[in-house]
Amino acid sequence: MVAAKDWVAEAEAILGESSVRVLRDVPLRARTSLGVGGPARIVLVPERVEDLAQVMRRLAAASVPFDFLGAGSNLLVADEGPSFVVISSQGLDAEPVIEKETVRVGAGYPVPRLVKRAASAGLSGIEFAEGIPGSVGGSLRMNAGWHEGMFGHAVATFTAISRRGQVDEVVAGPGTFEYRKSPGVGDRFVAAATLRLRPEDPALVRERMRVYHDHRVGSQPTGAKNAGCIFKNPPGGHAGRLIDESGLKGLAVGRAIVSDVHANFIVNRGGANYGEVAALIDRVRDEVGRRTGIVLETEVVVWR
Ligand SMILES: Cc1cc2nc3c(=O)[nH]c(=O)nc-3n(C[C@H](O)[C@H](O)[C@H](O)COP(=O)(O)OP(=O)(O)OC[C@H]3O[C@@H](n4cnc5c(N)ncnc54)[C@H](O)[C@@H]3O)c2cc1C
Repeated sequence: MVAAKDWVAEAEAILGESSVRVLRDVPLRARTSLGVGGPARIVLVPERVEDLAQVMRRLAAASVPFDFLGAGSNLLVADEGPSFVVISSQGLDAEPVIEKETVRVGAGYPVPRLVKRAASAGLSGIEFAEGIPGSVGGSLRMNAGWHEGMFGHAVATFTAISRRGQVDEVVAGPGTFEYRKSPGVGDRFVAAATLRLRPEDPALVRERMRVYHDHRVGSQPTGAKNAGCIFKNPPGGHAGRLIDESGLKGLAVGRAIVSDVHANFIVNRGGANYGEVAALIDRVRDEVGRRTGIVLETEVVVWR
């Protein structure tokens, strides 16, 4: 691993010889739904899988650390910004190609738009995700889900780039996706996915989307800055309920507060910093642990 102070210079030397678009000093509070986080020193915005694979190969060979950014809807970023190169899927967002029941789509494509496209094409299987503000790549990596739906259930294959730059088309099967994680993705970059959906009357698909939408609006702090659920549900349990029953709705640290609409959401009331959100997460975990004996595991991904 390259020493912390050297990784930027090392990365710049590699990127000087690459055709991948590079952004510098990008404030991540503007690219995350929670609205917290300092600048990323280097953000790569590849538009071609081969270009990205080559850069990843060279970064890995030089032990330059890097990680992946989708829509930033499940991230808590430190005020100093991440201490690694950020690779964004934003440029890999080609429109979905729909053939009968399969949909091929790029990692950077927004999930809410994909859900609408599938509905218009008379395809069912991802309407549960209409209110999940992630990218395809991030939703595959997190195996995003709601109620009985999970993104992984719809995935037939996906293009993965290993950290050493090897590109594979992975066939999804048993064990590829689990609750809010994807062992089959591991630490690889997801560049694109092929979904297999079911033909259905578009009006019925849209009606289910409407029901999901209404339920979401009634049960989550929509409109406020947040990162979705902070904690995973423990086996057989419900994190939001445990937090609520521990009397923690409305608990605040500075400008970060536990939502009084859904206890598993932390809301940035405006200008919250990393320390405030992280301290509030710790307080909630400690308090729930003390009262129930259950230690909650975070779902939100922390970047430092
Ligand atoms: C209002 C709101 C409601 C939400 N509701 C839900 C819900 O109902 N269910 C649910 O599961 N989640 C929900 N979320 C959380 C979030 O939307 C999902 O986890 C989403 O799938 C994350 O996708 P993203 O593109 O934003 O990922 P990011 O936040 O950008 O990244 C999340 C993780 O995925 C990795 N990643 C991102 N892109 C890639 C890629 N191309 N390849 C490999 N790894 C990648 C990142 O490195 C990081 O580890 C909600 C969030 C908000 C703000």
